[in-house]
Amino acid sequence: MTPTSTFAVVTGTVADLGYRLDAERRAGRSVGVVLTMGALHDGHASLIGRAVAECDVVVVSVFVNPTQFADPGDLTNYPRTLESDLEVAGRAGADLVFVPSVTEVYPDWPVPAATQVRVSALADRWEGRSRPGHFDGVATVVVKLLAMAGRCRTYFGEKDFQQLAIVRRVVRDLSLPVEVVGCPTVREPDGLAMSSRNQRLSPAERSAAVCLSRALAAGAAAFIAGGDRAAVEATMAGVVADERLATLDYAVLVDADDLEPAESVTPDRPVRLLVAARVGPVRLIDNLDPRAGR
Ligand code: AMP
Repeated sequence: MTPTSTFAVVTGTVADLGYRLDAERRAGRSVGVVLTMGALHDGHASLIGRAVAECDVVVVSVFVNPTQFADPGDLTNYPRTLESDLEVAGRAGADLVFVPSVTEVYPDWPVPAATQVRVSALADRWEGRSRPGHFDGVATVVVKLLAMAGRCRTYFGEKDFQQLAIVRRVVRDLSLPVEVVGCPTVREPDGLAMSSRNQRLSPAERSAAVCLSRALAAGAAAFIAGGDRAAVEATMAGVVADERLATLDYAVLVDADDLEPAESVTPDRPVRLLVAARVGPVRLIDNLDPRAGR
């Protein structure tokens, strides 16, 4: 445990985290948890700020989870910026930053744990198809980190919409003593969703990357104009296809709860536009509620 220049206390052990949060709860204080892989930006800060506004004590975890990377190169290239992360978390009002080692989270590492959390159907589509095993790694580490934190409210970004849906499902299915709060996507001024991966884009790729949010805006306009699923999806795909540096993975209109393709849309049924594309070496995702425009 080391106090930092930005007020948040840093801890690396499960025992110390549990001891501190149990003490807070015994004193009647509510706990907010924001799980991150570091490289913190304004999107993460907005989650922390919301948690600070709604909870008495806020813990931010910084852990690059090795089990959710299907591509080892992606894990190697993942940005690691702990000093600036502590600064961002502290400024956003976090009280505690949990930075565990890999063996603190996975005591048998590198031997895979015998117990895994797997969410059927929801984890197999979209991101799950392109990144086999990804959501098993996510669901497992989220359950572990939430178990370490104990009863809490946890804040997840809508930016990773499928992940948010999976976390909601896991918490419900496993009866975790946790309330999941979804938070809106924070964007750059030109519309690009903030992401740690954006750092890896060249200037030309960075300009091209805005095609994802433009595709969503065009898809939303087609949806509002009464277009059916095929028309909306073709509109989004067309915008990405026009961008030379981008390669589309998927552009779809889905049911916002189960993420199945939205075959028949009724006004009372929440829907979502999802898009994923590779821009240069980087795979980017984005999504939008076409009715709300955000
Ligand atoms: P990550 O560090 O990328 O695993 O993200 C940690 C949390 O921050 C997840 O709940 C993400 O959905 C959320 N997040 C990442 N980018 C954004 C963003 N641009 N706006 C809002 N939340 C975000």
